Amino acid sequence: MNLEIKEKENQYVMSTYGRFDICFKKGNGCVLVDDENHSYLDCTSGIGVNSLGHNHPEVVKVIQEQAQNLLHVSNLYYSEPMIYLAEKLVTASHMNKVFFANSGAEANEGMIKIARKYSYDKYGENRNVILTLKQSFHGRTMATLSATGQDKFHHYFYPFVDGFDYVECNNIHDLENKCDDKVCGIMMELIQGESGVVPLNVEYVQQVEKLCHEKDILLMIDEVQTGIGRTGTLFAFEQYQIHPDLVSLAKGLGAGMPIGAVLAAEKCQNTLQKGEHGTTFGGNLMSCAVANKVMEIVNQPDFLYEVEQKGNYFMNQIKAISSSDIKEVRGKGLMIGIVVDEKKRMDYVNEFIKKGLLVLTAGIDVIRLLPPLIISYEEIDKIILIMQEVFQ
Ligand SMILES: *Cc1c(COP(=O)(O)O)cnc(C)c1O
Repeated sequence: MNLEIKEKENQYVMSTYGRFDICFKKGNGCVLVDDENHSYLDCTSGIGVNSLGHNHPEVVKVIQEQAQNLLHVSNLYYSEPMIYLAEKLVTASHMNKVFFANSGAEANEGMIKIARKYSYDKYGENRNVILTLKQSFHGRTMATLSATGQDKFHHYFYPFVDGFDYVECNNIHDLENKCDDKVCGIMMELIQGESGVVPLNVEYVQQVEKLCHEKDILLMIDEVQTGIGRTGTLFAFEQYQIHPDLVSLAKGLGAGMPIGAVLAAEKCQNTLQKGEHGTTFGGNLMSCAVANKVMEIVNQPDFLYEVEQKGNYFMNQIKAISSSDIKEVRGKGLMIGIVVDEKKRMDYVNEFIKKGLLVLTAGIDVIRLLPPLIISYEEIDKIILIMQEVFQ
């Protein structure tokens, strides 16, 4: 890569990221091209963001048209893209109302505030604890870091936000034990993404829902990574046959434009009133125009069915690679985790890069695949060939 860029990054940008030595210039569909004209098959989607791949013609067209009209006007006024997007999200989710933000963490902050205020309005002070799962990931702001159930995130930045406690995944007894009269919400990813593509059991999640209903605790589902078609249904919660009180979205909703959203069910649709929450960029015309297009394309039975089918095919093809290097393959739709030897993981990742394949990691021993939802069977086959070479 252009070493000047690397040097300048080192000089001018805070060193919060460990970057690979690749500088990307353009992309098309599932293919990314670097500054030396090397092509890569992209199984990262910008960490679950570019759900329609790169340079999608309809997305480009929406961006061009919207840019010529208006980018942003603030939430002091109405604008069409935001309202139409709200209608689409509410209708598709069977929830009641939406609040627009700019990122996953910010959407989760909104969920946390709604859960606490809902409880405050109804039960007064001191019922404000939110239970989250161990190994969860909910974001990098102070409250969402506090919500994240991994010790490694709980250093340096003291004091963290009070009122969070952590329970074991798929263990209803642990949850029942910690679910005292101070708890106002339970927040979880249905497939834990960052910690290793770990799906929760359906039975467990349904028990959690039941407990929430019995105690009037809000069920808060973080669909920042799993949402908008990633797992083969528009929302992962559909596959668990539950009705969450709150759902957060971000990543894939904007297909590359920054956007986050919180959906609220009837119970808490009016919990936040005028002046009680806000964000300057939230609901801007540009992000919402693109998200409308994403919803139009992704929220089609045929499209979602294809994601499910391609995901099953992809997972089965990986499982069919006979290699002791692959310990387990798991996931749903096009959210796939390959468990490998922790010590060899980065070697595999670097071998993939040499052969023109980009993947993500998760947890300590998982290679994570989040390809664009528009990936073709031919591209999956090419990826499988590369994996065969590397794993065998
Ligand atoms: C990525 C992610 C977040 C944080 O989203 P940002 O847009 O980075 O703030 C929160 N929750 C889950 C499940 C995620 O995967």
